[in-house]
This record gives sequence, structure tokens and C-alpha cells, in this order.
Amino acid sequence: MKKTIKDIEWQGKKALVRCDFNVPMEGNEITDDTRIRAALPTINYLIENGAKVILMSHLGRPKGEANQKYSLGPVAIRLHELLNRPIEFSPWDKVVDENVKAIVHKLNPGDVLLLENVRFRPEEEKNDVDFSKELASLGDIFVQEAFGTAHRAHSSTAGVADYLPAVSGFLIEKEVKFLDSAVNNPERPFVAIMGGAKVGDKIKVIENLIEKVDSLIIGGGMAFTFFKAKDLNIGKSILDEESIGIAEDLLKKAREKGIKLYLPVDVVVAEEFNNDSPSKIVNIEEIPEDMMGLDIGPETIDRYSEVIKEAKTVVWNGPMGVFEMPNFAKGTLGIAQAVADSNAITIVGGGDSAAAVEQMGLADKMSHISTGGGASLEYLEGRVLPGIDVIDNI
Ligand code: AMP
Repeated sequence: MKKTIKDIEWQGKKALVRCDFNVPMEGNEITDDTRIRAALPTINYLIENGAKVILMSHLGRPKGEANQKYSLGPVAIRLHELLNRPIEFSPWDKVVDENVKAIVHKLNPGDVLLLENVRFRPEEEKNDVDFSKELASLGDIFVQEAFGTAHRAHSSTAGVADYLPAVSGFLIEKEVKFLDSAVNNPERPFVAIMGGAKVGDKIKVIENLIEKVDSLIIGGGMAFTFFKAKDLNIGKSILDEESIGIAEDLLKKAREKGIKLYLPVDVVVAEEFNNDSPSKIVNIEEIPEDMMGLDIGPETIDRYSEVIKEAKTVVWNGPMGVFEMPNFAKGTLGIAQAVADSNAITIVGGGDSAAAVEQMGLADKMSHISTGGGASLEYLEGRVLPGIDVIDNI
């Protein structure tokens, strides 16, 4: 078990908190403040318990140089509005220097300071020892609250914890709780749903999950590589040529282990990769030579929904079709509905599947929507995430 902020007596202590304030911006405007709001429970808990709160984050890719386009200034303003209290912001490009140390020195319990973008320093992404020490010198305890970067070993996500005790904030605690129990101790039947464009990108996740699940549902573009491996005609559908052999191995492995691997039984095919292209529903064995599969068909949605209904744990990553085009979004939306309707513990990996769930207003019907696409995939691959590994155990 990992230590959390609840295991610390905070009064008067300096909490150095790594947040994920990497919000979408247009000019100086924050277009979506979900990530800032998500960190509020942890920040408020620290304030209420008398900590001096020092927040750090990256924003965008300034590539190790100070660039006002990526300043966290607008985030400080939004934090001030959301917390309804004054926020100190240290606009110094070096992130840590004598000016910043002087502000930290003057902080009172309950005060909040936001540092400038940690990626203004080239050392950050190199997990540089000296920069990690500089950051650590600002706090008494490191709080990990940025799941989106937990798979990266950077100074502010991992290195800093070499010099400070480290605990998780509420967001990380929730991510670890759901992903860990799914991967290591799932309630059964455990069903994984994998979609998206390529098998190659998710091969490690599938290889790891095939050892753990009872059923594996495949949809999206990656299904066609499996069909090719089964010698079916896939017309002009997307093919991940390099992964045909791997798809064959996975089919064999599933058979040997007695795992049910579901592939679409019907697909929506179109002439072109285009929302308005003429389309029709065909059986999987009847894909015309000059057409491409862009979504799973209605019978597949029904079959997959039945499997999902029986599950006790569901992990879903990746769309079932080209859901960005409304005419090929029905499969993804149908599966989102089935996952939302199920009584299982439901975990949606970040990225496209999370976007589909949000788009349908089903977000609060899921047990957990992971905030980090890359990080949750690496977790499901069975990898140790550096930013989680550094958190102290109880
Ligand atoms: P990924 O990033 O691997 O999860 O892939 C997501 C992308 O896969 C989305 O942009 C989808 O449009 C795309 N996708 C899903 N199904 C298909 C398909 N049948 N053909 C082509 N692209 C697809």
C-alpha cells in the first residue's frame, strides 16, 4: 500500500505537490480547466490541514527554454478563482532561485504558491540530480498528484522523491486503486475491450491482459489485422502489416489459455475514409474488395454488449471505429452505453474512449476514467511507473 496525504500530519509542513496542469490553451485562455479542478480536493485538504502548499507542473512542450506562451500564469489566475483565495505565483524562468526561496520562506500554513513551468528548465526531462535537489529544497514532503506524467522519470515526477518523503494525492490514490485491482486482483468475469487503429501500439497491453482476463473483446481498426491473420479478406481496411504474426500468436495464446477472444461478426464498410462516403453493413466474411471497414456493425454491438453485461470488471481502451466521423461512431457509442449500463467495476483508459464517454454524458456512470492515456496503458502493460514507484509504502 502506498502512503497518501492522509498519512501525514501537515500542520506547518511544506507540501511540494506535482500536479498535472497541462491544460489546453488558446492564446492566454484556458479552454478546459478539468485538470485544475481535478486537483482541488488534494489542494483543499492540504490547506485545511495547515500545510504550506507549493504546486508545480509542466505545460506544453517548451523544450527546456523559458517561453511565455507556456507560462503557468493563467493557471495561477484560474486557481485563484477556483480556490477563492489569493495564490502566490513565482514567474521566474529558473523555476527555483533565490526569489522563489524567499517566497517559500514567507509562506504561512494554508498559503498556496504555484511555481513556473518546470519544463522551462532543460534538466527537468533529463531527471537531473541537481535540479531534483533544487526542487526538493523547497518542500518537506513530496505529493504525487500528476498521473498523466507518472510514466515519465523526470525531476519533478520522480527525481525529487530521492530527497523527500513521498506520498500520493487523492487523484493518484484513485488511479492506483482502480488500475491495480483490475490488473492484479479483478472481480471476475474480467472483460477487456481493446480498440483503436493499430495492434502494434497496444500489443504489450494485450499480451499482459491476456494472462489476466476471462474475455478479450477486439474492435476498431486493429480487428482487421486479426482477420488478416485468419486469412479473411479485409478489402481496403486498415492493416498493421508488421503485426499480423503477433495477431496470430495472440489468437493461438487465447485458444490455449481458454480465453474468449471476440472479434466483430459484422462491420460497417465504406468506399472512402470519409463521413459521407456511401456505406453498408456486411458480414465479416463479405467485405468487398474495394471497401474498408470503419465501424463494428449492429450485431457485433449486441454480442459485445451481452458479454459486457455479464462482467464484474471491465477495462476499456480505444474506439470501436472511426468515431470522429458521426456515421462511423455508432459502435463506439454503443459500447460506451453498454459499459455505462453494466454493474461491473468499469475503468476507461484515457484518450479517445474517455472522450467518447464524456461526449455522451456517461462519465459519471463509470467507476473510473483514467486521466492519463499513456500512463494507464503502461500500467495495463504491467510496467512499473516511475512516478508511482517513488511513492513511499506504508
Ligand atoms: P488509438 O490512438 O490507437 O486508440 O486509435 C484511435 C484512432 O483509431 C481513432 O482516431 C479512430 O478514428 C481510429 N480507428 C478506429 N477504428 C478504425 C478503423 N476501422 N479504420 C481506421 N481507423 C480507425
